[in-house]
Amino acid sequence: DTLTRIDKHDGTIRAFIEVERDLAQKAAAASAERHAQGKALSPYDGIPIGVKDNIVTAGRVTQCASKILDGYVSPFSATVIEKLQALGFVTMGRLNMDEFAMGSSTENSAFQMTRNPFDTERAPGGSSGGSAAAVAAGFLPVALGSDTGGSIRQPAAFCGLAGLKPTYGTVSRFGLVAFASSLDQIGPLAHTVSDVEIIHNAIKGHDPKDSTSMPDSAYQKWSGSLSDVTLGIDESMLEGLSPEVRASFDKTLAFLKGKVKAVKKVQLVNQKYGIPVYYLTATSEASANLSRFDGIRYGHRAANAKNLNEVYERSRTEGFGPEVKRRILLGTYALSSGYYDAFYGKAQAVRALIQKDYADAFSEVDAILMPCTPSPAFKLGEKTSNPVQMYLSDVLTVGASLAGIPALSVPGPADGDGALSLPIGMQLQGPNFSEDRLFALGRAIE
Ligand code: GLN
Repeated sequence: DTLTRIDKHDGTIRAFIEVERDLAQKAAAASAERHAQGKALSPYDGIPIGVKDNIVTAGRVTQCASKILDGYVSPFSATVIEKLQALGFVTMGRLNMDEFAMGSSTENSAFQMTRNPFDTERAPGGSSGGSAAAVAAGFLPVALGSDTGGSIRQPAAFCGLAGLKPTYGTVSRFGLVAFASSLDQIGPLAHTVSDVEIIHNAIKGHDPKDSTSMPDSAYQKWSGSLSDVTLGIDESMLEGLSPEVRASFDKTLAFLKGKVKAVKKVQLVNQKYGIPVYYLTATSEASANLSRFDGIRYGHRAANAKNLNEVYERSRTEGFGPEVKRRILLGTYALSSGYYDAFYGKAQAVRALIQKDYADAFSEVDAILMPCTPSPAFKLGEKTSNPVQMYLSDVLTVGASLAGIPALSVPGPADGDGALSLPIGMQLQGPNFSEDRLFALGRAIE
């Protein structure tokens, strides 16, 4: 069963920070009892699901893979957890991630390195690397991740899975520890697009506890057919791809050409500023959000501090890892008076242009196809000494995050001669609330 498989293989993969055995066994027993009495809560009653370590469950530890949250027990559950438990899903435990979701390889976890089940010398992607590895290793059929600039889509691509970054505001952020509030969304990773769709439909919906949550009336049902869909491609997004990724994209496009109504070129001209705009926005918001971790309110408190300032300073010095510190410094700098207009203000202006490019494109096409990442899974340690190199690997995912639009990562065809045998992810982006159409396109590709 699930626990046996985890026990047998997670010593190598290290996807779980904690297997919540007691909780899972109790929930599974309760589910079995309901089934025996013919009173299952839903068709999904009893299905195991894993949860990224930045989504809280009442009475349980959540740490965002950070030492600063040592021993933090949440008094409440995230809305997504309540919704899943009400349907009978069994939460299995906390999955590894980059500390506070900052990273693209899961190597920034304060606890452990997670390995890609396809090649254990390679990264599972990040920051939801534990979620992706747990599903890819066959521990779980589905897991929840969070995506701020690609953290669901990129690990899904590296681990041969489907993963959705939903339209901003469709899934409640209540109970998701904030990294960059205007970008963060919770979404599923699974083997198939249909499983992603089931989980997305289970967790979405208006939540009065999240002020950025959209009203349910905003959702669009789509029951059209692929032969009505106009697909867009932006050739500038195809520069600098590895040959395998390029080949996979070309095959996917050729295949879809035979299914959709038309393929048109679009131009997302401001995408070239995506990385700087994203890293200014995300670090600025993070520096504000992470100020709450002060040694007083949550988790770790430094011993022997002589006054309040020392409590703050030492707790944060001891509790945060190097990447989190780097981002707090960058964000504080970008927001500081004298630099605000030049950095944060400028980034917001360009963010609006990136949004407008998408709006213009979506007046011509229904969805845009591009790869999810410029290359397949990189080796563990390959990018750790150069943070900018790591940031640049997000070039194809940050655009949809900045625009707030939905984006689905789907496994594309593997490389032609099979020499590589690593998964390659394709990405479908669409206008706000067009998830249903993305699922239909995704199912055609997978
Ligand atoms: N890799 C990006 C970053 O490091 C995205 C992270 C995320 O989506 N949480 O910020």
